[in-house]
Amino acid sequence: MCGIIACVGADSTVPTLLNGLQNLEYRGYDSAGVAVENGSGLSVYKRAGSVSDVRDELSQMTDDGDVGIGHTRWSTHGPPTDVNAHPHTDEDDEVAVVHNGVIDNYQSLRAELEDRGVEFTSDTDTEVVPHLFSEHLEHCPDAETAFRRTVEALDGSYAIAAVVDGEEAVYAARNGTPLVVGVDDDSYYLASDVPAFLEYTQDVVFLEDEDVAVVRPGDVATLSVNGEPIDREVEHVDWDPQETGKGAYEHFMLKEIHTQPTALTQTLEGRLDVDEETVDLEGFPPGTFEGYDDVQFVACGTSYHAALYGSKLLDDVGIDSTAYRANEYDTSSSPASEDSLVVAVTQSGETADTLTAMRHAADAGATTAAVTNVVGSTAARNADHTLFIRAGPEIGVAATKTFTSQVVSLTLLSRRLAEDFPDAEPREDFDELAAALRQLPEDVETVLDGSEAARLADRYVNDEAFFFIGRNLGFPVAMEGALKFKEITYQHAEGFTSGRLKHGPLAMVTPSTPLFALVTGRHNEKTLTNAKEAKSRGAPIVLVTADPEEHDDLADEALRIPETHPALEGLLANVQLQLLSYHAADMLGRSIDKPRNLAKSVTVE
Ligand code: GLU
Repeated sequence: MCGIIACVGADSTVPTLLNGLQNLEYRGYDSAGVAVENGSGLSVYKRAGSVSDVRDELSQMTDDGDVGIGHTRWSTHGPPTDVNAHPHTDEDDEVAVVHNGVIDNYQSLRAELEDRGVEFTSDTDTEVVPHLFSEHLEHCPDAETAFRRTVEALDGSYAIAAVVDGEEAVYAARNGTPLVVGVDDDSYYLASDVPAFLEYTQDVVFLEDEDVAVVRPGDVATLSVNGEPIDREVEHVDWDPQETGKGAYEHFMLKEIHTQPTALTQTLEGRLDVDEETVDLEGFPPGTFEGYDDVQFVACGTSYHAALYGSKLLDDVGIDSTAYRANEYDTSSSPASEDSLVVAVTQSGETADTLTAMRHAADAGATTAAVTNVVGSTAARNADHTLFIRAGPEIGVAATKTFTSQVVSLTLLSRRLAEDFPDAEPREDFDELAAALRQLPEDVETVLDGSEAARLADRYVNDEAFFFIGRNLGFPVAMEGALKFKEITYQHAEGFTSGRLKHGPLAMVTPSTPLFALVTGRHNEKTLTNAKEAKSRGAPIVLVTADPEEHDDLADEALRIPETHPALEGLLANVQLQLLSYHAADMLGRSIDKPRNLAKSVTVE
């Protein structure tokens, strides 16, 4: 996991690279560096630290050229130090390479190179690449052939960009981690993700696994590792370049929480006809899912909580469904069959664990569908069907608006599936759910305008631990509330089904462990009982509910949500919990957009 940027023929290379790195910083931020080919050699600058830390230093670079590569690292092999930062070079500084991913066979390659007398300077797996490339340059007819030979020797996952002394070109390859080319009139870009160059162009070529690309002034060649040309289409992405900036907000996370009404409007646009009570999902015409027996979701992190929500929505309409954590999917006893629909939920479409689970499912003969935010992502390309959640770019590492848009997308999908699955029983109250979905952006706005989350964060922020409980659709929200809280505040937080509390966790309850109970959806009596049990052991109780007045005796505090359809109450409650986490993290002075040790999309298993 890291961010790669490269450019050819940009107005000024170093500032373009630094800008791209800044836009990609959410992908990795323990060190950064750039290399430019300036006509009289390669100049390489790299340092441990975040892009912001090193930006000033790097912008002093007086060398500039027409071709350059840059990298922001999230280390897998070797600590975040200056020497381990990318780009890595060969002994003669003839080649510079940036890499995202893991070279599985680096140890044997390194041993072979060392036997031939090559001296390594870093602990990374990446460093084998420039040394190999340099060796091949000596006996290959041209740099392109040498690069392809180098790539041929690599096992593992990689997105690589390389520059060579004296060559006005960037050499790139991908296998298992994303790489996309941006095409403008006179300039070309190459990056791990589109926001890196969105301000220059929205026309892109998504490279696929095992592609090699050579980007020269005025030309992008895509080819196989054997050198056969491959045609890749130029696609237009309609993300707004403005969306990638922080605007008036102090953090991307806060901006993304506040843009949920817009994101939701985009998610729903043209897909829901409230009067006709119909759902129209492009790529999923009626009848698409006739003849399947069950639905299995595979996902990780926040997307897993959205998947769990989706799975419970399917239970409600009588469809047999299970949500699996993608990284455990291969250990379950081959759950997929030809009669299964396997739905991968992944914000980036590049989550390695989820892609692996999708492959397992496809190998078992299942039909796969991807629910993702990123057009052209690997999940979107590999799946038999794709539903885009249309939330717009999400930069903050902690997922917020994409969870909300994922759940709404799955709510729409549940309608489509209920119509197609043979034994399903479509909701009788779909008219009410449809009306509530249309109202949802406004309801989220109401939560954002009137939230007391900042005051509650101030009251409890220094407590010992934070518990979140909920039942049915409230359970994924309890899990998500706890995950958000722990990932950005670094405080101990846990989410449970309400009834689990008394089977052990109650032992941890004290007056310094606030309990957030989701009184959402239907059948909350037991959650209220469980909250009472915690209260009688001294825990402060915060209810997240549409009618706090009814529970005055129990609640020390409340986070109010507007009344809506029971299937959507959890989503509104989640917005309150997002704000709670945000404000608590802000009060603790945490690095909110880039929490320690985490990266936005986890492209290694
Ligand atoms: N494996 C490489 C390293 O540790 C690249 C990690 C990344 O993707 O940032 O340097």
